[in-house]
This record gives sequence, structure tokens and C-alpha cells, in this order.
Amino acid sequence: MSQHQFFALGTASQVPTKTRNHNGYFLKWGKEGFLFDPGEGTQRQMLYAGVSAKDITKILITHFHGDHCLGLPGVLQRISLDKVPHPVKVYFPASGLQYFNNLQNASIYYNTAQIEICPITEAGIIYQDEKLTISTEMLDHTVESWGYRIQDADTYTLLAEQLKTHGIQGVLTKQLLQEGQVKVNERVVHLTEVSVLKPGQSFAFVMDTRYCANAVKIAKGVDTLVAESTFLNIHTAEAISHGHLTAAQAATLAKEAEVKRLILTHFSQRYADQGDFVGEAQPIFPAVVAVKDGDSLDLTRPRQAVV
Ligand SMILES: [Zn+2]
Repeated sequence: MSQHQFFALGTASQVPTKTRNHNGYFLKWGKEGFLFDPGEGTQRQMLYAGVSAKDITKILITHFHGDHCLGLPGVLQRISLDKVPHPVKVYFPASGLQYFNNLQNASIYYNTAQIEICPITEAGIIYQDEKLTISTEMLDHTVESWGYRIQDADTYTLLAEQLKTHGIQGVLTKQLLQEGQVKVNERVVHLTEVSVLKPGQSFAFVMDTRYCANAVKIAKGVDTLVAESTFLNIHTAEAISHGHLTAAQAATLAKEAEVKRLILTHFSQRYADQGDFVGEAQPIFPAVVAVKDGDSLDLTRPRQAVV
């Protein structure tokens, strides 16, 4: 498993089919492992993908329609059974707390899991540490639904020659990294003068929604956008009435948000061929793939030469 890897555990909207499991996605992100919208059968799909309960650090639920959460009982019980040693935070719309409670207590089990519930009541940052920020925006579905963004902090690669030129070493280097600037021989040297900025990697997850400004906002400029595309263009009216996107609308979202790569999923059972979704999206946004169950995509950035 690479440092940043996306697993499509299931790609079906509403009902599973013979070739598609209910929704479910796992994102390996450095030390974190995010499980998104575990639909029915997610536990077994994880097994096929080589993802274990211990790999999960956070679970993120967009909304409480069954295809996005019916896998929770199995996954939560497995976390308990496998004695996952770390706490697992679970994010979900606060209005769905009763549904979460039902799912967590769906049957008898010996609960040893350290589950920390994090109900979402407002847009913005829901988690932050030194390296990582998770934020959310409300989308436009038929029920309360939230989009998620995972954003790594920017880092700086120090340039040895530049440091030497400015006489910065030892404790001064540490101060420069911590404070963004340092005073040497009466001159203030800024971090940007002696380093190369490496923007933090980013990922957005936009499930059930109509096309809306908040979907563009949460996805703005990300490296990878995973978006639902339940319908094709010929069913646009249905997409709007059911609170969903077409492949063309998902591509327009990717273009408008200026993302680098688009992954389409959450397909209606009426369409057999993922290729139709790519065919519709590609003229609008070329860097697109439509995943099938079991696909895993390496999201690690190619190493950039330091100039
Ligand atoms: Zn839904």
C-alpha cells in the first residue's frame, strides 16, 4: 500500500448489483485510514481489497441513506472484534444521530471499540493537527448531506546553499521553520527566501448532491476529487429530482473547481458500462476515470525536482 492510495470497495448507488457492491471507499492517507460511506457488504469488500479494521482511523459518513451507512454495523463490530488499539472517530450529520445509534447497536456484540462520535453541525474545519486538516460543506441532496475535504499542510524543502549564504544553521534553522522567519545579522530572512514550497496534497469527497456552489467550494483546487455520478445526461431531470449528479455535471464540477483528477462512482443500476460515464465526462474534464469495485488508485504525487 502506498502512502496515498484510494480503494473503491463498492460503486453502486441505492442497490447492489451482480457486479457492483453498495458504496464504500477507503483512503490510505499517510498514517491515517479514512473509511467513507460504508454501504452493505463493506466488511467483505475490505477483505478483498486487503484493508483491515486496524487500518481505519476515521469513518466519514456523508448522509444516512442506506447505501452510505448500512455497512456500519459490521465494520464497527469488526473494529471491536479485532481489538483495534486506537480510537476511531466517526463523522456524520448531527441530525442523523439516532440512525448512527441504531447502526452502532444493531445487534448483540461485546463492544470494546474506542469509537468517538463527531456529529457535524456546521460547515468548516472538523479536525486539525500539525499535518492534516479535514473540513466539510453542506451539499444539496434530498436529505442533509455533507462533502469532505482532506488537506495536508504545506511543507518546505530547505535549500542548503541559500541557508549558508544567509548564515543560518542549527537553532536558527529550527526557529526559521517554526516561526517562518529568523533574524540574522540584523536582517530578517523569510522561510520563502531559502526554501521551496511543497503544497500539501488534497482530496475531496462529494457524494449525493445536486450541482451546487458548496460542492465547488469543498473541491476547490484538490489533487483528487471523488464525485458521485449516479446518472447520465439523458436522465438529467431525474438526477435533479433525486438530488444527484450526472457524469457531465460531475465533470463540470471538476472543471469549475479546477481539480487535477476526477474519480467517478456511485452508479445507478440501470447502467451496465462504466465507460459511458467516462465518455460523457471526458470532453468536459479529460483527467477522469470511472472506478469499478476492487479498483485501487495510487494518489502519490510524482517526485518533483528541486530547483
Ligand atoms: Zn442519498
